[in-house]
Amino acid sequence: MKPYDIAIIGAGPAGIMASLFAAKNGAKVVLIEKNDIIGRKILATGNGRCNLTNKFVNVTSYHGDNPSFVEPVFSQFGSGQTVAFFESLGVVLKEEDRGRIFPRTNQASTIVQALEHELSENKVRVMVKSIVKNIERDKLWQIDIEDNNQLLAKSLILTTGGKAAFQFGSSGDGLFWAKKLGHTIEPLYAALVPIETAESWPATIQGLKVEARIKAFYKNNLLAEKTGDLLFTHYGLSGPAVMSLSGDFADKADDKQNNVRLEIDFFPETGTRELHEKINSIFQSNGAKTALNNLRGMIAQNLLELILNNMSLNKDKKSAEFSNAEIGNIIKAFKSTVLHLKKLRPLKEAQVTRGGICLKEIENNTLESKKIQNLFFAGEIIDIDGDSGGFNLQWAWSSGYVAGSHASNQR
Ligand SMILES: Cc1cc2nc3c(=O)[nH]c(=O)nc-3n(C[C@H](O)[C@H](O)[C@H](O)COP(=O)(O)OP(=O)(O)OC[C@H]3O[C@@H](n4cnc5c(N)ncnc54)[C@H](O)[C@@H]3O)c2cc1C
Repeated sequence: MKPYDIAIIGAGPAGIMASLFAAKNGAKVVLIEKNDIIGRKILATGNGRCNLTNKFVNVTSYHGDNPSFVEPVFSQFGSGQTVAFFESLGVVLKEEDRGRIFPRTNQASTIVQALEHELSENKVRVMVKSIVKNIERDKLWQIDIEDNNQLLAKSLILTTGGKAAFQFGSSGDGLFWAKKLGHTIEPLYAALVPIETAESWPATIQGLKVEARIKAFYKNNLLAEKTGDLLFTHYGLSGPAVMSLSGDFADKADDKQNNVRLEIDFFPETGTRELHEKINSIFQSNGAKTALNNLRGMIAQNLLELILNNMSLNKDKKSAEFSNAEIGNIIKAFKSTVLHLKKLRPLKEAQVTRGGICLKEIENNTLESKKIQNLFFAGEIIDIDGDSGGFNLQWAWSSGYVAGSHASNQR
């Protein structure tokens, strides 16, 4: 059996890029994927629209033991190169708010089809429906595929992803093999994931989406804050703003005392004093109306009803009869409604894994293992994860490019 120059396990964005750029360098490449198609997770990204990168890619949008690990990778292949690469494949892109970039078709399948075509143009052997069961290292890499198929390769790139959204294939096999080969795995947590709250009232307004600022505190220390869309659900909170925060308290999510406190500001653009003056003036000029009638134009009605009910007021109380303290309580609910974290939703519902292969054990210029020659890593398997907004796919494209290019340079 003639060995491949490079075998790549996992045809997600990282594995596809690694295969392409290794093959473009003249290497004989095999890409092995357990699903029946390549890029299964890409199809689910951006609600099926694929937010493939962000104009503002920067180290501050990444997390891991040492986020600056991403810098030499992005300096070889950053967001500009990603845009140029997809445009060279004929994909027309468009920019949306906050620098997010999507295919103009609004379809993730446009991206997968373009990559599929490019893999075939570059003569990468793509094996789908092929579950890798084991890898062994002798002089060559020996890759055992289910049904007794065995392949040999001079170099191996592991791009099997983390453990988030494992229904799309990323069940953590590569992490298991890396550990067996002597690598350290930083603890894995769900990130970019919805949260369950200790309080049950969000269920009463499930489906309501608002723009808000959320601050997360642990034992009164501010951990992080985010402004954006927030969705109330039957279990608690979802939506981009809360999902973006979840990674910041993932390691505290098992705290049984519910010590992670979330403060929601439904009026992030308006200061407390300004809001007080505004409500005072509305209540004075329409004193005969109820608070519900006066305020329903300011905030979603079901949320307003919930806030007023929680204040145990007489429903028919006229606005003119509100005391200053009662108006203060309304403002408090508008500006800092408090919820407590019960737990994160499971990894299945997470968009990305926090943790992974220890950064200290990987060369950040080449993404080769420092422990084992001719072993490379790319994508979510590494202890790097990004914010919501195209940052995770960018890491996958960039790290795939770097691993594939350097693995093929070493032949
Ligand atoms: C619902 C959802 C929406 C998202 N939206 C966005 C977005 O809009 N923008 C963004 O930047 N990021 C987004 N992400 C995150 C992004 O998709 C991931 O970070 C990215 O796909 C990771 O790429 P990867 O190549 O490292 O791993 P993966 O995409 O997970 O690919 C790993 C591949 O390895 C294969 N594999 C695993 N084990 C084996 C084995 N034993 N044998 C053979 N094959 C194997 C798997 O089947 C899988 O295809 C989203 C994620 C989810 C779940």
